[in-house]
Amino acid sequence: MRTLPPSARRRLAEAFVFSSVAPQLKRAADRGQTVKYLFKLADAKTIETVVMHYEATPRSRARTTICVSSQVGCPIGCSFCATGQSGFDRNLSEAEIVDQFLAASRDLGETQRSLTNVVFMGMGEPLNNYAAVVGAIRRWARPDTLNFSPRRVTVSTIGLVPFIERLSAEGLPVNLAISLHAPDDALRSSMIPVNRKYPIAAIVGAARAHAERTGRRTSYEYVLLQGINDSPEQAQRLATVVGRHLSHINLIPMNPIDGSSMAPPSKSRAQAFQSILQTAGISTTIRATRGLDIDAACGQLRARQLQAATSPT
Ligand code: SAH
Ligand code: SF4
Repeated sequence: MRTLPPSARRRLAEAFVFSSVAPQLKRAADRGQTVKYLFKLADAKTIETVVMHYEATPRSRARTTICVSSQVGCPIGCSFCATGQSGFDRNLSEAEIVDQFLAASRDLGETQRSLTNVVFMGMGEPLNNYAAVVGAIRRWARPDTLNFSPRRVTVSTIGLVPFIERLSAEGLPVNLAISLHAPDDALRSSMIPVNRKYPIAAIVGAARAHAERTGRRTSYEYVLLQGINDSPEQAQRLATVVGRHLSHINLIPMNPIDGSSMAPPSKSRAQAFQSILQTAGISTTIRATRGLDIDAACGQLRARQLQAATSPT
C-alpha cells in the first residue's frame, strides 16, 4: 500500500495480522508438480501443506490439489504415521486452516494454475478439530470470499464415528475419505488405538449413511504395509467389509518413516491385492507416490526439521 504514508502503514502492520501462517521452507519435487511448504505459526510451531499438480487426462481435467493440516501433530498415534509418532501439540484455528489455502494460492501467483481441490490429509485428525475444520470449509465456500465449493473438499478421517454423523448432518456436500488400513478389528486396533472405541463396522456404517445422504462416493484409504495387511486373504476380506456400493478404495504403498521397520510391498504384490478387489467389483486405484524425495508423507518434513533442530550436530 505505497499510496499510504509510512506512519499509517506502520500502524496498520502493528494492528493487523495479514496471514496466520508464514512460509518457512518450500521444496519442490516431481519436476515442480509437487510443492511442499513448512509454515510457521504465530507461536513458532510448524505445520506442513502440500500442493500437487495433476495434468489433464482423456478422462479428467487438470487439477491442482492442496493437502492441508488440521492440527499441530496428532493425538491418534497411528504406528505407520510420522505425524502420529511425533505426538500432539494443539488444534489449528479456523484462520490457520483458511490461511494455508490463501498462502499457497498467493504463491501459485504467476503459474496460471489455481487450486481446484482441497484434501484434509496433512497433519492431524480433522474430525478431532471439528469446529475449526467445518468453519474453514464454510468460509472458503462463502460467495464473498472464495466461492470454493465443498464438493471439491475431501475430509480424511481415521473414523471418529460421532463426528462423521455430525458432518453428515451439516448439509455440506463434502467428500469423505476413511483411513481404514486393515480389514479386521484385531489388526486395525494394533495399528490404530482408537479402533477399540470405534470399530470397523461402526465406521463403515457411518460412511455408508453419509454416502447415501450426499450421493457422494466414500473413498477408503488403505496404506499397504508389507507382511502386515497386504495378503490376498486380507484383500478378499477388505472387499467384503467395504462392499461395492458408493465406494472406492485407494491403495497407498507405505512411505517409509524414520525409526520404523515397516515398508511398502513390492509392486507386483500391490497389484495382486488390487486385482482381488477389482474381481470383487470394487473400484480401486494404487496411488502414485508423490514427492518421496521431499518427505511428502504425512508429517515427515516436519519430523526431519524437528530432528535437525534438536540434534547436537
Ligand atoms: N488423520 C487423517 C488425515 C491425515 S492422514 C487420517 O488419518 O485420515 C492422511 C493419509 O495419509 C491417511 O490415509 C494416512 O493413513 C496416510 N499416511 C500416514 N502415514 C503414511 C505413510 N507413512 N505412508 C503412506 N501414507 C501414510
Ligand atoms: Fe493422525 Fe491420520 Fe497420522 Fe493416524 S494417520 S496419526 S489419524 S494424522
